[in-house]
Amino acid sequence: MVLFKKMGDLSKYLASAKTKRQTIGFVPTMGALHAGHLSLITASQLANQISIASIFVNPTQFNDPKDYQKYPITIEKDIALLESAGCHALFLPSVTEIYPDEASLSQHFELDYLETILEGKYRPGHFQGVCKVMHRLLEIVQPQHLYMGQKDYQQCMVVKRLLQITGAATQLHTCATLREADGLAMSSRNTRLNTIERAVAPAIYEMLCHIKNNFSQSDFLVLQEYAVQYLQSKGFGTVDYVAIARADDLSLQTKWNGKDRLVALVAAFLNDVRLIDNMQLN
Ligand code: AMP
Repeated sequence: MVLFKKMGDLSKYLASAKTKRQTIGFVPTMGALHAGHLSLITASQLANQISIASIFVNPTQFNDPKDYQKYPITIEKDIALLESAGCHALFLPSVTEIYPDEASLSQHFELDYLETILEGKYRPGHFQGVCKVMHRLLEIVQPQHLYMGQKDYQQCMVVKRLLQITGAATQLHTCATLREADGLAMSSRNTRLNTIERAVAPAIYEMLCHIKNNFSQSDFLVLQEYAVQYLQSKGFGTVDYVAIARADDLSLQTKWNGKDRLVALVAAFLNDVRLIDNMQLN
């Protein structure tokens, strides 16, 4: 695996791949890698000659400075994992490489409704930060294929919108969420859970399964209220949201019309660790 810190060097490597008509698959990450991230590399490898990962803990997408400071960093282990997964190149830029000037920091993206709900509502500015970094990374890598996780459902919709806004010739592939044996969605933030919190955390998955089993004959507000109580009875603190939305556009729903595809989404705190997850219901 070749490691690049400078975008100029990466661009030369990519230009040579493109002259050989090799397709490029790209997996952007913030590091602290786990099997979920590696499943995206595998998806890229199955469809492309060159797979590139990036590791960049993007400061502009953290609305809470403490969350940014505490974000786990395990670079040596990440490099070994990517190498063993057969990733071809890793882009490991500095903050100034991604944000060299004021213009790269001040761009605004029209996300409309998408950034007013759920993660957008509870993490103001988060999706603008996601768009800033993704716009820069896509400009640099110019991949034909981009692999992201359904674990971050709303983020996938935001990036899809970004691709439309910018007219980028990149196809987004949304990959299934990898889970631990007890159902907990794999996440870099799970490493911050202590033993007791880790034992409580799968309640999110249990609650999503309950919603999936009951949504068709339930009032969603009653179901959501039950879900919040269930999480808090298990030891969760603040539950930012438990919501049921139309899978295609994330419009929030209060009952099923018998035909729309639906997704349940949740964000909740276990002490100071904020976990998110979601599940397609039908
Ligand atoms: P992150 O490093 O958390 O920014 O995640 C990088 C990419 O990995 C994003 O596209 C995530 O949606 C994806 N990802 C994170 N957790 C999982 C998981 N458990 N299964 C599949 N993909 C995941």
